[in-house]
Amino acid sequence: MARAIRVILLGPPGAGKGTQGKLLQEQFGVCQISTGDILRKAVAEQTPLGREASQYIQRGALVPDSVIVNLVAERLKDKDCEKGFILDGFPRTIPQAESLEVILKTRNLALDGVLSLRLPHNVIVERLAGRRTCKNCGALKHVAFDPPTKQGICDRCGGELYQREDDREETIATRLKVYDTQTAPLEDFYRERGLLREIDGVGKVEDIRNRIDQVIGDRGQ
Ligand code: AMP
Repeated sequence: MARAIRVILLGPPGAGKGTQGKLLQEQFGVCQISTGDILRKAVAEQTPLGREASQYIQRGALVPDSVIVNLVAERLKDKDCEKGFILDGFPRTIPQAESLEVILKTRNLALDGVLSLRLPHNVIVERLAGRRTCKNCGALKHVAFDPPTKQGICDRCGGELYQREDDREETIATRLKVYDTQTAPLEDFYRERGLLREIDGVGKVEDIRNRIDQVIGDRGQ
């Protein structure tokens, strides 16, 4: 039986958090919580959350902490999170990280680690600009580095692949700036708590996955 695991995937947009998060989810049988995926779904469905979030997402800014924290707190109560979770894109600010500590403490849960995927800005821009996302299942592809078998179609579910509006070059620069100022300080936050594990995020999906496996210790058997 796969063991329980509670980890945060930290890293700039395009670092591979979504791809590695989905692999870890399959490997460990825990839930993957991507706040970006949840928000994009809400935007597509035009829910009140989606309407509020879309103005921030479109310009590459962060959605207010209170909105995000409530959303994650609720999601963590779901049955598929009982055995553990992979957090992808949350926390993204120090207040979010502090709120997560409170949420976990009240439920007597502890993090196993924070996997920080590191890569230079030029690689990030290259990855984001060519990234395509499945409208249906959120799977990620890259036009040059990981093209789908059939152009524009998701290999996993047959859904339509599209370019996220915030993956366009104009918005990428804003997102990177937001990352450097608001999210990068989380490295020190978790380093001080002895939880930070730095991982080289440059290379192929499988290489990065192997590096993560080395840090996590095993393949969850
Ligand atoms: P992502 O898919 O993680 O790159 O997220 C896409 C966008 O959703 C971000 O640029 C933010 O506008 C918003 N978002 C996702 N996660 C968070 C979060 N934890 N805090 C605030 N905004 C978020």
